[in-house]
Amino acid sequence: MTETILIRGGRVIDPARGLDEVQDVLLRDGKVAAVEADLRSTEADRVIDAAGKLVTPGLIDVHVHFRDPGFTEKETLETGAHSAAVAGFTTVCCMPNTSPALDTPDRIRDIVERSRGLPTRVHPIGAISVGRAGAELADLRGMAEAGAIGFSDDGDSTKSSAIMRKALELTKELDLPIMVHCEDWTLIEGGAINEGPVSQELGLPGLTAKCEEIIINRDIELARLTGGWLHVLHVTTERGRDLVREAVREGYRVTAEVMPHHLVMTEDWVAGRRKLVGSDETVPGKCPDQNAKVNPPLRTERDARALLEGVLDGTFEILATDHAPHAPQDKPDDLTKAASGMIGLEVAIPSLMHLVRLGELPLTTMIERLTVAPARVFGFEGGSLNPGMVADVTIIDPEDRWVVDESTIVSKSKNTPLLGMEMQGRSTTTILGGEVVHELQATS
Ligand SMILES: [Zn+2]
Repeated sequence: MTETILIRGGRVIDPARGLDEVQDVLLRDGKVAAVEADLRSTEADRVIDAAGKLVTPGLIDVHVHFRDPGFTEKETLETGAHSAAVAGFTTVCCMPNTSPALDTPDRIRDIVERSRGLPTRVHPIGAISVGRAGAELADLRGMAEAGAIGFSDDGDSTKSSAIMRKALELTKELDLPIMVHCEDWTLIEGGAINEGPVSQELGLPGLTAKCEEIIINRDIELARLTGGWLHVLHVTTERGRDLVREAVREGYRVTAEVMPHHLVMTEDWVAGRRKLVGSDETVPGKCPDQNAKVNPPLRTERDARALLEGVLDGTFEILATDHAPHAPQDKPDDLTKAASGMIGLEVAIPSLMHLVRLGELPLTTMIERLTVAPARVFGFEGGSLNPGMVADVTIIDPEDRWVVDESTIVSKSKNTPLLGMEMQGRSTTTILGGEVVHELQATS
């Protein structure tokens, strides 16, 4: 039995029912029992004072890399789930680019079984193609029965358009998305960062935006052809947004996500000019910074602003992190050799709160895109604090200032270009199914 928890006096934001008010929240038997103005007189085993804090449904991240099995020096299911809980996420979906790849029902079952009892719910995503090699369709039906919540060759595009067509056809029967990493492999040509002034300045091979847009376009055309469910991962360009927006408006089953780092960082970060989008302040960083190498890359400020517009107009229903831990040896100074990716879970709230404080992203939209929207799109439990819902709750201190560094990050890997920067806002308490799985210890 879980204890009865009363969360008192927090600003409850539950976009699923348009609630944004100071209320008390009562959790009992693993469910939300009541959300009311004053539950002071209710008996509870534990009372959490949430005055000045935000109380939201547990956050959901449909795109993380937990590197397990195969690359457990970077992250494991346990360390990844711990990082997620500390970051306020109660549900995550892990990508199949492990070793071996998650491309069989047995491997999906292994993740489901080993995730029991972790401090966050972990849903596996199966590979689209055998070994993620892009040549042969994996057993999507079998993986769906084993617990896969979608399919992706993330890290690469699925090379064969014929396989993509077959996979999209199957989504109509399985009702699970094909989640696509969009990158034309023939155009990569060793590209390390966005192709533009910064790649020229640093003498680094660039990745043109067209590399991404060509495959977004291909996969949307295949979604049009099949009527299947396409989920476009980590869109980074203005034109990419337009392609998704057009398909969504025409009523095709196309969903898409944007990452906090593509909203608040630009290619300048690779050159050590760390200016959060919309900020006046530049914090000098490392030049070049291997931790700012990510795929798809950080683009221009114009792209970042276009992506934010896409979040605001609903083109991007989902905010996700693409949490991509790497060990130090995978991130040498030479950017042509450094692995792509940055950790995202623990810096997600403060990165997005930056846009909220600027007045550019309404708080309710931010929370909606991290809770009820992914729950609705993927059919997960949670996402709302409506009485009767599972008691997954995140309490956020929007004012808390903290420095992102090796001692504050709990993920096994520390690869983020935010290292050394002071950020504002983080989860102070995370509750999973009525059990407190994270509580921030007071530091000052
Ligand atoms: Zn990814």
